[in-house]
Amino acid sequence: MTTADTIPDPVPGPRPGPAADLGLPGLHRSVTDWFDAAARDLPWRDPRCSPWGVMVSEFMLQQTPVARVLPVWRAWLQRWPRPADLAAESTGEAVRAWGRLGYPRRALRLHAAAVEITERHGGRVPAGHDELLALPGVGAYTAAAIAVFAFGDRQVVVDTNIRRVQARVVSGRALPSRSLTAAEARLAEELMPEDDALAVRWNKAVMELGALVCTARSPRCEQCPVRHACAWVAAGRPEPAEAPRGQSWHGTDRQVRGAIMAVLRAGHDPVPGPHLTGPVDVATGTGLGPEALRALDALHGLGAPEDQRRRALDGLLQDGLAVHGPGGISLPG
Ligand code: SF4
Repeated sequence: MTTADTIPDPVPGPRPGPAADLGLPGLHRSVTDWFDAAARDLPWRDPRCSPWGVMVSEFMLQQTPVARVLPVWRAWLQRWPRPADLAAESTGEAVRAWGRLGYPRRALRLHAAAVEITERHGGRVPAGHDELLALPGVGAYTAAAIAVFAFGDRQVVVDTNIRRVQARVVSGRALPSRSLTAAEARLAEELMPEDDALAVRWNKAVMELGALVCTARSPRCEQCPVRHACAWVAAGRPEPAEAPRGQSWHGTDRQVRGAIMAVLRAGHDPVPGPHLTGPVDVATGTGLGPEALRALDALHGLGAPEDQRRRALDGLLQDGLAVHGPGGISLPG
């Protein structure tokens, strides 16, 4: 059992570290003071940012780093400052504007969420966790993050950065489990400050510490505000029990899907299917504009076999990210 002032027992692993000596208030103060001094100035953290802006950022940040999200987020909010603006557009335009953020089904889901917000919530992002959770594309983490960062709600937010920091500081482990365990979720809840406003800052601060200092591959412990209290450092920085899985990309169907999507985004006219899946000689002319032609050249430059390109295209059609019409393949209307 934990009191408000003590560090809870860690999830099973090495012994509790010196964080226990610091106590919860000391841990909260160290991390939030560091955050106040070192946090990045991100537009979705601006108090003037709308709940919709926060929601868009949470969708984009799910699997894409901040640096790549920033320009797309700005363009998106400028073009569609309210959910109703996006809802009035075609899904194809959402996918086009998603650009190279990757995992473009998120664009379809964000569009579907905008439609639902417009039709069922009067055009305003709902503040309640359960209403958020009911929106397309909003899972438990995203609902909690929007509730906390857009509405200052008290929710436990547990993303990969937070899980890694708490695994190291409290549990003395190099990395958290591959997927969130009940023990980790409980620990995150026990570490939360009781004060609501401080709890919001704490969530942001731990997330930022994981993103900037306590990174997965090369933590900068010498710059860390809790280095003297970190169980993993005290244990001699032991290696992880399991090697982290690298993200494969080159030669994968995902890479080929991305290259096909780049061709479809680059032009407004349908692209004949054989241009995408067959042995096209790009130099002889395809009737496509220069940008689409460049993207087609890049697709063929991957050297992916025809059956892999066909499989990737079939997947895009099945996912609703592309449609097959009389003139060929295009983004959805
Ligand atoms: S001391 Fe190092 S391992 Fe511990 S929380 Fe800080 S950066 Fe992470």
